[in-house]
Amino acid sequence: MRVLTGGGVTCTRYEFERLMRTIKNLKKKYGFKLVVGGPGVWQLRGLEDKYGIDVIFEGEAELTFPKIVKDILEGREVPRHVWGESPPLSLIPPIVTPSRNGIVQVTRGCPRRCRFCSPTMFNFRSIPLETILKEIEFNLRSGIRAIGLTTEDIMLYGANGLNLNVDAIKKLFDNVIRLARKYHVTDPIGFSHVTLSSALVAKEAVEYISEVNELSNNRPLFPQVGLESGSPRIVAKYFGGKPYPWKPSEWWDVVINGSKLLNNNYWYPCYTYIIGFPDSTPDDYILTIELIDRLREEGFKGWTFPLILVPIGGTLIEKSGYKELLTLKKLPQEAIDAMVAGWSLSIKFSYEIYPKVLSGIKNPLTRRIMTALAKKAIDAMVEWMKGIKNDPEVIEKVYSKVNIRTLRGLVKATALQYK
Ligand code: SF4
Repeated sequence: MRVLTGGGVTCTRYEFERLMRTIKNLKKKYGFKLVVGGPGVWQLRGLEDKYGIDVIFEGEAELTFPKIVKDILEGREVPRHVWGESPPLSLIPPIVTPSRNGIVQVTRGCPRRCRFCSPTMFNFRSIPLETILKEIEFNLRSGIRAIGLTTEDIMLYGANGLNLNVDAIKKLFDNVIRLARKYHVTDPIGFSHVTLSSALVAKEAVEYISEVNELSNNRPLFPQVGLESGSPRIVAKYFGGKPYPWKPSEWWDVVINGSKLLNNNYWYPCYTYIIGFPDSTPDDYILTIELIDRLREEGFKGWTFPLILVPIGGTLIEKSGYKELLTLKKLPQEAIDAMVAGWSLSIKFSYEIYPKVLSGIKNPLTRRIMTALAKKAIDAMVEWMKGIKNDPEVIEKVYSKVNIRTLRGLVKATALQYK
């Protein structure tokens, strides 16, 4: 949202700077070296001195990170910027501490090469089933009562490039569900992402996952899916590999048919689409609005959320020299309309789904409280969206000035939702 509003310091930046002040003081006292890594670390390039960072570590950790640590411990000089090499599967070890919410990685990388995407810059690999099961069992034995599979596209599990492997996907789910039953985990086995073209190619796997998970209207899955744009020109230019084996010109069919397949199998996805592709024209945004309208007409069940393009460090788009961070002022009215179209479809579905999802809460009082809170949150979003629809600058004029770190600011923020 900060990208849109051009307002004050974001919560994440505020917390990060607070953390770095503490670490800097500890560093003064104990004289250690500070190595910072992780997917967002590219944002710290050029800020090493400000935060007292000795090494910025990008890429994969397994091979290179231990070498860097060893060099530091043995007093050798290390470069300020390190790119971690891609390890072979045999050198990716299972986790040694339980993972949050029982999430385990099943694939790494993605072969589709979308220009705005960072995971696609890693070699694509499927984690061996044995390692996945070891990690899940380790989590379950540690007391975690959930299993989640993280992947850029669950349909790529066991694939050779973009040649999908339905048997490998079925085997993965058979084994994970067997383990879930052994440890009395009753929730369906969810996963983070799926691609519509893969789902259409591996239709049988989609149906199988729903069947073995015993999905229903009240027991759905909510994967995240990249819709990106409704403009075939933008598809061809920025994510031509995503519709494969279909062509960019067939993207609408992939989206509509893929959505029906997912919904028929009780997968209610969260679609994200991008506002601000470089050189996007009003016509490109109109095509996105029309695709969202078409989804609505077809009775799509799911969310459609706009995201502003961020040229993430190391992506193809960033490497080509594009570094701009957009603000609301720089966007045409059609881009605002495209955002509102997605929000309004999301709100419609949220009203539809929340009673079903919350019906699973056994305690009646907790269920009543959660239902009231969920309704209030969606109502607030409706008001927020109306404000932007009437005057897009409301974000900059009003919302960006709210200070949620003081009681007064918080009360003001809450009051704004109900204006
Ligand atoms: S399909 Fe998704 S994960 Fe794969 S390259 Fe495109 S955006 Fe990245």
